[in-house]
Amino acid sequence: MNLKRALGLDILSERYAYEHDPAHGWVSSSRVADRWVSTTCGYCSVGCGILLGIKENRAVAVRGNPEHPVNRGKLCPKGLSEHHTLAASTRAQYPLLRKDGKLARVSWNEALDTMVTRFRDIQKKHGPDSLGVLSTGQLVTEEFYALGKLVQLGFGTRHYDGNTTLCMASAVSGYKRSFGSDGPPGSYEDLEKADVILLIGANIADNHPILCARLERNPHATVIVADPRVTKTAMLADIYLPLKPRTDIALLNGIAHILIRDGLINREYVDRHTSGFAELAVSVSRYTPEHVAAVTGLPADLIERTALLYGRAKAAFLGWTMGVNHSTQGTETVNAINNLALLTGQIGRPGATPFSITGQCNAMGSREASFTSSLPGYRKFENEQDRAELAGLWNIEASRIPTARGLAYPDIIEAALAKRIRGLWIIATNPIVSFPNYGVLKQALENLEFLVVQDGFHPTPTTELADLMLPAAIWGEKEGTYTNSERRVTKVNRAVGPPGEARTDFDIFLDLAARLGVRDELFPGWTGTRDAFEEWKRVSAGRLCDYSAMTWEEIERAGGLQWGGPRLYEDGHFPTPDQKARLFAIEWQPFPEQPNAEFPFVLNTGRTVEHWHTRTKTGAVAALQTLSPRAWLEMNPRDAKRLRLKPHDRVSVISQRNRVDGIELRVTEIVAPGQVFMPFHFVETNSNLVTQSAFDPISREPNFKQCAVQVERTERVS
Ligand code: SF4
Repeated sequence: MNLKRALGLDILSERYAYEHDPAHGWVSSSRVADRWVSTTCGYCSVGCGILLGIKENRAVAVRGNPEHPVNRGKLCPKGLSEHHTLAASTRAQYPLLRKDGKLARVSWNEALDTMVTRFRDIQKKHGPDSLGVLSTGQLVTEEFYALGKLVQLGFGTRHYDGNTTLCMASAVSGYKRSFGSDGPPGSYEDLEKADVILLIGANIADNHPILCARLERNPHATVIVADPRVTKTAMLADIYLPLKPRTDIALLNGIAHILIRDGLINREYVDRHTSGFAELAVSVSRYTPEHVAAVTGLPADLIERTALLYGRAKAAFLGWTMGVNHSTQGTETVNAINNLALLTGQIGRPGATPFSITGQCNAMGSREASFTSSLPGYRKFENEQDRAELAGLWNIEASRIPTARGLAYPDIIEAALAKRIRGLWIIATNPIVSFPNYGVLKQALENLEFLVVQDGFHPTPTTELADLMLPAAIWGEKEGTYTNSERRVTKVNRAVGPPGEARTDFDIFLDLAARLGVRDELFPGWTGTRDAFEEWKRVSAGRLCDYSAMTWEEIERAGGLQWGGPRLYEDGHFPTPDQKARLFAIEWQPFPEQPNAEFPFVLNTGRTVEHWHTRTKTGAVAALQTLSPRAWLEMNPRDAKRLRLKPHDRVSVISQRNRVDGIELRVTEIVAPGQVFMPFHFVETNSNLVTQSAFDPISREPNFKQCAVQVERTERVS
């Protein structure tokens, strides 16, 4: 600090001066924009409308769009500081190719020629399916649509999946099994119209904070939160259900038991619109309140009260997120949730819905238009008519469309480990931090002959391992659409150009298609994402996710359009062969890795409001880093006392696979004795060093939420 500053004579008036903004009044002069670009937040699936302020071609400010129906001007800390991600010092600017062991700058021509040559060589040597692709929930829908065609029809590999499988694959599989199709049936406005809201494994106060405003607008609803940890959302609840980890199926079956026992089901709805009731009734007959109390640790009278509130509700909202999905029984838990909605007819009416609050800003777009677990437009790989229809729309031979989905994300990693996948293309995701059981992943990536990582940021823990790194544009630098959790298609706009030589993902895809000799066939006449949108409208026409009547201009004007309207299945007809939804008899099972004498704690992992996933973006935002600079481990005071640990001690978390050292201890009643919690955002103390390779057999989603660990003081903190 200089002398003038120390004496208080220099008050940094230039930096902190106010200026009058014609649109927003007196604000810091550094935040006065020349123009405001309307767009959609690029972090989570809430899909808040944003105004991005631009001055001299730089993003200088962000404001919540007061006209936008999703957020009505509000933003969470991530959205409020999102403009800082665009000019981060860690933005990737030039293609880099590994030469003599080091990443060196090369031209785009050399980069893309090398990529095509290396991948083609691998496929010639080891077969077309020796190439895998892992994408993201961060691209615009138009890019997902183009990427699916490029991967499956251009590169000719089936093994394409997204990091969305680490997030909401269980919701997708659960919806498909219960209702015949993916697609959350309700809307955010149902949170304002329900009289009972039951949130299961959903910490919306940290992870979807703007949805909490919907709860505030509905003060008469009874809010019930089931979660093993007293999250910020649990603190907002009227009734908190502190169930034991991963006992939610027992609780849901117990509620179904009471609904049937007390005649609180909607028998007419069940008879007309569902199948499978008899099996379900037999199966839940064993889930008496006493049995469920023994499994969940909840008092039997609290289970009864919850069931009666749900069963007597005029309109009941059932919401869930990762506490349900991140489980080896994730899909079945979703089915057990859907069972409750179907038994009571709490679906397709205002306030009444089973509602998966999804993860990334455009995870939904990847579900609709991609080519991973479904064909575009929720068509099925195994359905001949669906394949023929698509082939007709694309003017190609139907035999080029795969008859079964390729490997899911964890199975692509397993195949790389077994050297069946030899080339891998990772797009806008950071598995080194986000994938479970780091040791297995690292070995799998080391086994590859050629790894391409395409990302807006470099270095990340994953780009550092690449043989080729392709710099991509990010949110704020490209145009297209996202779909949020309530099926609202919103407009995303370009406000500034990407840094250095970075290009949009869409441009990269078209350039690769040209080098593969398929550009004219797959993308005839395409120059921009609008061309992809126009084709996607034709491909989605007549499907559940029908975009055919939408235009970019109307989407923009309306603040987003919901495909299917505010609610699906209002008429009780479902897209199944008999038009009925399916009830499932589901048995609760204990989670796979139980605590024992050597590893006595159950480790739960999750998120905090300040950070996004692996911190590639939020780690570059000073305000967010200052608010949440490092990871922590939450432990109950009784356990801390027994282990002679104090708040702020540095501790090690050890599983049978690996250890995380030097994490700061928080001693708190937020977690129950025998459980510990840590956030998963931080590579410096990477929770996925200790998590396990256990996956839902249906959705292939990892069981991130429970593994057995020991905790001890870290003797030396480096
Ligand atoms: S709630 Fe989600 S969409 Fe809204 S500002 Fe925050 S991160 Fe963005």
